[in-house]
Amino acid sequence: MTKNRQNDELFQVTFIGLGAMGWHMASHLPKVCKTVKVWNRNFEKAQQHAQRFGTIAVNLQAAVQADIIFSCLPTSTDVENLIASVNLKPGSIWVDCTSGVPSSAFQLAERLKKLNIDYLDAPVSGQTIGAENGTLTVMLAGHHDACLRAKPFIQAFADLIEYVGESGSGFAVKAVNNSLMAVNLWAVAEGLSILKAQQVDLTAALSCINHSSGRSGMSETIIAQRVLNGTFDRTFALNLLQKDMGIAIDLMRHSQLELQVLQATQACFDQIETTKAASLDFSAAIQRLEQDTGYQLRF
Ligand code: NDP
Repeated sequence: MTKNRQNDELFQVTFIGLGAMGWHMASHLPKVCKTVKVWNRNFEKAQQHAQRFGTIAVNLQAAVQADIIFSCLPTSTDVENLIASVNLKPGSIWVDCTSGVPSSAFQLAERLKKLNIDYLDAPVSGQTIGAENGTLTVMLAGHHDACLRAKPFIQAFADLIEYVGESGSGFAVKAVNNSLMAVNLWAVAEGLSILKAQQVDLTAALSCINHSSGRSGMSETIIAQRVLNGTFDRTFALNLLQKDMGIAIDLMRHSQLELQVLQATQACFDQIETTKAASLDFSAAIQRLEQDTGYQLRF
């Protein structure tokens, strides 16, 4: 997809939160906007970003004076606190790429509307590699006109931008998506545990599965790239996946549904305590399964 630079030289875009995802997402914005400002809590990272990608590192109050403000922080609470600490510019659009809580999106959208500011929930999927390549999927929600205005800028780091509905819908889709990812990862690992117990070669087994109906995104990527090779490289922290599953389970309860697989999977991933989970990749949850079964899943 061609990423066209917006011609209006006065138009300013800001990116807040240069973490594993935000660092890469912000790096694409100079393709579509002449002035791209960045802010990060650890400000050195913002300065490094500016040096590397031609963005401009500014303080937080200056950052929120842009026409479009992107944020990508760990949780909705982080975004709420940050928004509460600044004076925003009327007429701007806040595009929140955090994987957040639907009710928070709804409340922020209502609150900011009174200041003539649009708040959109726009969580992303595609892992750090998708952020680096500018090929993320964006689950965009909120006021439809504001979504249309923000879209050319979101396109800088996205291949698919899907409008999914009113405020909160984007966060809901993201929470369900990540819960499905967790279900798939755990299910593939359980299947491979059986095969290991049966002394089947896991490389051959995975090759068959990936050419058969049992395959999934997890069987095709993470299982080989992080579990079977034993690296468990950290790009998406396990505590963030635990948060996403918690959001999905809260939505399930709010919808008065009682769904067994999602709840059982959440219990599996929650076996690792949150503080420890913050230092681990989400794939490392499979190490608990390995301890329980006594079978290590390695090539
Ligand atoms: P990281 O932990 O790598 O980065 C978090 C960023 O938020 C850092 O820039 C950090 O600043 C900043 N931050 C943390 N707390 C605060 C705060 N209280 N106030 C201001 N800034 C803060 O997270 P990720 O980039 O991995 O994830 C960000 C969001 O994207 C999460 O919601 C996650 O669920 C989601 N996501 C992550 C994916 C992944 O593969 N990693 C994939 C898709 C979505 P500092 O540098 O100072 O610590």
